[in-house]
Amino acid sequence: MIFSAACLARTNALGKHHFMELPVVKHWYRTESLDARTFVLTEPHVHPIFSANIFLILGRDADLVIDSGMGVAPLRPEIDALRADAEKPLILLSTHTHVDHIGAAHEFDTRLVHPLEADELANPTPYSLDTSGIPDAFRKLFLDAGYPPLWPLLIDALPAPDYDPSSYHLKGAPATKLVDEGDMIDLGDWAAEVLHLPGHSPGQVGLWHHETATLFGADAIYDGPLLYDGPGMSVADYTVTLERIRALPVKTVYGGHDPAFGPDRCREICDHYLALWA
Ligand SMILES: [Zn+2]
Ligand SMILES: [Zn+2]
Repeated sequence: MIFSAACLARTNALGKHHFMELPVVKHWYRTESLDARTFVLTEPHVHPIFSANIFLILGRDADLVIDSGMGVAPLRPEIDALRADAEKPLILLSTHTHVDHIGAAHEFDTRLVHPLEADELANPTPYSLDTSGIPDAFRKLFLDAGYPPLWPLLIDALPAPDYDPSSYHLKGAPATKLVDEGDMIDLGDWAAEVLHLPGHSPGQVGLWHHETATLFGADAIYDGPLLYDGPGMSVADYTVTLERIRALPVKTVYGGHDPAFGPDRCREICDHYLALWA
């Protein structure tokens, strides 16, 4: 859920002592089946602030991936292994362009994003896994929001014995199509409407699956500390977004982070922040 900011950019090599002792894990992604056609992949060895949900929805005519994690380890092989037909068209929707949602975007051929995030997707702000350059003001923001203190690196394990954390960088992955409020993403036997949900970021979108009253809320709503006062964020926009989400007849919310929740918790989260900002 982290924002991009030029001041976070780091190009210096990391001190080896930072990562020489990190364990190597065989499976970088954890995969969970949510229903017959929906999976969520997470990155348990990424710091909780930067560990986002990656969803895969299998459709009759195409499959859909919602967000692509940090890009520390290749994502595409994990996704293709879950697909019945890896030759079928595969669509990636980036809900917004914070680093933890676009890391592996370049591994996908069809890339959707909102117009207000298109420049960042094409030319992402450089990022480092070394957290020593993160300013105190941001550390305080994360702590105040309720997150654990940052680690020296954003990861606590390596995806391969020869992985060099200092080699981490975001690759530009220009959108192949722009999506905005009201557009439909249609997989043949599953279709969802794009909702523009700004506040956490200007061009953030969610997906509303009418048939099952499921909201893919991205970073507009999840069951963890929401971030609303960093660069590019707007409490005024976020207020409108949460009022809108509160009025939706949701049964299930899949957020950009943390586990799924139902309508009662959805209202509770909306009410908490709306009262805080009032
Ligand atoms: Zn996020
Ligand atoms: Zn975010």
